[in-house]
Amino acid sequence: MAEPTIEIRSLTTGYRGKNNVTVVARDISARLFGGELTCLLGPNGAGKSTLLRTLSAFLPPVSGDITVMGRNLRDYTDKELSKLIGVVLTEKTDLRNMSVEDLVGLGRSPYTGFWGTLQEHDRLIVENAIAMVGITGLRDRMIQTLSDGERQKVMIAKALAQETPVIFLDEPTAFLDYPSKVEIMQLLHRLSRTTGKTIFMSTHDLDMALQIADTIWLMDREKGVSTGTPRELADKGTLARFFVRKGISFDSENCMFRIERSE
Ligand code: ADP
Repeated sequence: MAEPTIEIRSLTTGYRGKNNVTVVARDISARLFGGELTCLLGPNGAGKSTLLRTLSAFLPPVSGDITVMGRNLRDYTDKELSKLIGVVLTEKTDLRNMSVEDLVGLGRSPYTGFWGTLQEHDRLIVENAIAMVGITGLRDRMIQTLSDGERQKVMIAKALAQETPVIFLDEPTAFLDYPSKVEIMQLLHRLSRTTGKTIFMSTHDLDMALQIADTIWLMDREKGVSTGTPRELADKGTLARFFVRKGISFDSENCMFRIERSE
């Protein structure tokens, strides 16, 4: 079996205050692989953003180890990290009067000098990133004129221009209409295959994730993190146990949730 890109051992995430530690999630052990799309699912407050922040080294672990490409995450310098992990956040960017091409070009900042001047080589990488997400026709548009789905593709292109083996995305399908959600999920899945990158995203789009993700991480404050392919999690009963709500049942054979309705 291939070596994991990221290996997490007995990780506890949380926030350190002056005199106390607020633990968010305990004892997470899991692995992420290159060439795969992994979706992180769980209710609000389960700790998905905290986990993404910890895995991208914005937040130190409370305890446990995170190994990325064979080396402990804490041993990387900030400069090395910027060439290792690309992060796509969902907060709506308030970038105005910047073209798509210029924003994608910001993805090159780990490689350019202080002034961020792009060389010919960087321009080619930016052009390629724009083509990979299928937005060549938008390259000269100003960011504020784009739809939410188009803007999300630009942010993904920026992460591609950063040329990192790992990309994390915090709810990239939030705020999008259904066709745009599907398009972004399919794009990320295709990119995982064509680039061999390790792509890890949080989402609330459960049914879509079950259809397209290679691996699912289910996160819950009480039950911790359970990982597996959608089929494995269906067969083990993990999915059925995870979302126990009146009026919703899990159809294990078809790996989907069914909504009951009154006659
Ligand atoms: P999710 O992304 O799954 O909705 P979060 O990771 O945002 O969950 O939050 C998990 C828990 O961590 C919540 O109880 C939240 O209040 C807490 N939390 C988030 N940010 C901080 C912070 N900066 N300091 C302390 N606690 C925080």
